[in-house]
Amino acid sequence: MRVAMIGTGYVGLVSGACFADFGHEVVCIDKDAGKIGRLEDGIMPIYEPGLDLLVANNVKAGRLKFATDAAAAVAAADAVFIAVGTPSRRGDGHADLSYVYAVAEEIATLVDGFTVVVTKSTVPVGTGDEIEAIIKKIRPAADVAVVSNPEFLREGAAINDFKRPDRVVVGIEDERARAVMSELYRPLNLNETPILFTGRRTSELIKYAANAFLAMKITFINEMADLCEAVGADVQQVARGIGLDGRIGSKFLHAGPGYGGSCFPKDTLALVRTAADAGSPVRLIETTVQVNDARKKAMADKIVRAMGGSVEGKTIGVLGLTFKPNTDDMRDAPSLEIIPALIAQGAKVRAFDPEGHEARHLLPQIELTEGPYEACAGADGLVILTEWDQFRALDLGRVKELMNGSALIDLRNIYRPAELQGRGFRYTSVGR
Ligand code: NAD
Repeated sequence: MRVAMIGTGYVGLVSGACFADFGHEVVCIDKDAGKIGRLEDGIMPIYEPGLDLLVANNVKAGRLKFATDAAAAVAAADAVFIAVGTPSRRGDGHADLSYVYAVAEEIATLVDGFTVVVTKSTVPVGTGDEIEAIIKKIRPAADVAVVSNPEFLREGAAINDFKRPDRVVVGIEDERARAVMSELYRPLNLNETPILFTGRRTSELIKYAANAFLAMKITFINEMADLCEAVGADVQQVARGIGLDGRIGSKFLHAGPGYGGSCFPKDTLALVRTAADAGSPVRLIETTVQVNDARKKAMADKIVRAMGGSVEGKTIGVLGLTFKPNTDDMRDAPSLEIIPALIAQGAKVRAFDPEGHEARHLLPQIELTEGPYEACAGADGLVILTEWDQFRALDLGRVKELMNGSALIDLRNIYRPAELQGRGFRYTSVGR
């Protein structure tokens, strides 16, 4: 099949490269000429494990191409994917659909023959109807079927998630789209991936319901962690004790500094707005949003308490700035709230992250170091904010020697309290 992927970001580039690897002919399109130029030079615009090799192999095989102009690829395509961003609209939390609708307007004039237009971006219920209306208004004769096909991949494990997903969800209103979508995902039949065909609105809602549920699960265990601290229980054992119940499941039960990233914060907010507009409020999710927002502030206070009640004039080493390991994505990362709160209270911050290069612009007040040990040097306290593998195996003797103080605040629970205390750290973690 011929695929035009419009938007070559975390989702578009991974999806495009994986579809090419399935054997389809894919053109990844982006209006960011710098991004397309780098891709044409073999340089990845994002950090995602395995992506460089996957892209290189498929470019070499002639199945994957890049373009800034959508015209030729859209005209030739069996399926045009919309994979542009849907950030929170400033002020009200609704999903900003301006990028999606701009693409709909653009492709209306370009499609040639029967074309399936697939929304991969996360979009509120009813967006597919609007995309269809935009295309029909601009070009009444356009022969398109507008489909919803939300993406569930996780950054850091995106390729495996795309190629071996738990399920694929496809929302259609035009039966002709079923064959095209089945053919696109046919290689997944090999591992018997369930492909769930639903109505378009249902498919759009499934994505938000999934993200809201996961955000709620994280927030639940975070509140349990606070309760554990108050009553002298261990949240990791609580998580294991409940997670072994098949009805609950052990995933997404790791207590931490609160969820962040490019999806959960904006998608929970957008669902709250959609539900309120529909007169059917989702109070659990409204509360999840509030509890999670408050948690970031509470984490800064926790660090200050662990450092003796004041960070004025103190140096804090920070390990990890991205919202999770194995990605360079810093959108809505907890670090962006916690670090400025510490600086506002007079702290000096030295931080290291293997891929969080954007911190240079997003956190200009901090000093970025070349490695983890440089961030520890002279620090009165050390904070672990993101659980990159390399922070799990630090030479703790060296860390202790380099530091000026002994407070270690592990907001990801990657170390064992007894071990760290035995080495002379004043160790604080979450819910233990
Ligand atoms: P992103 O910001 O990394 O990429 C979006 C890309 O679209 C950018 O490169 C931008 O230049 C390009 N773009 C915008 N308008 C364009 C246009 N008119 N023509 C061509 N290109 C255009 O975003 P992302 O993280 O890939 O997210 C895309 C969508 O996928 C969002 O709706 C998001 O919610 C959803 N999603 C993201 C993830 C994730 O882990 N990042 C997972 C599942 C779903």
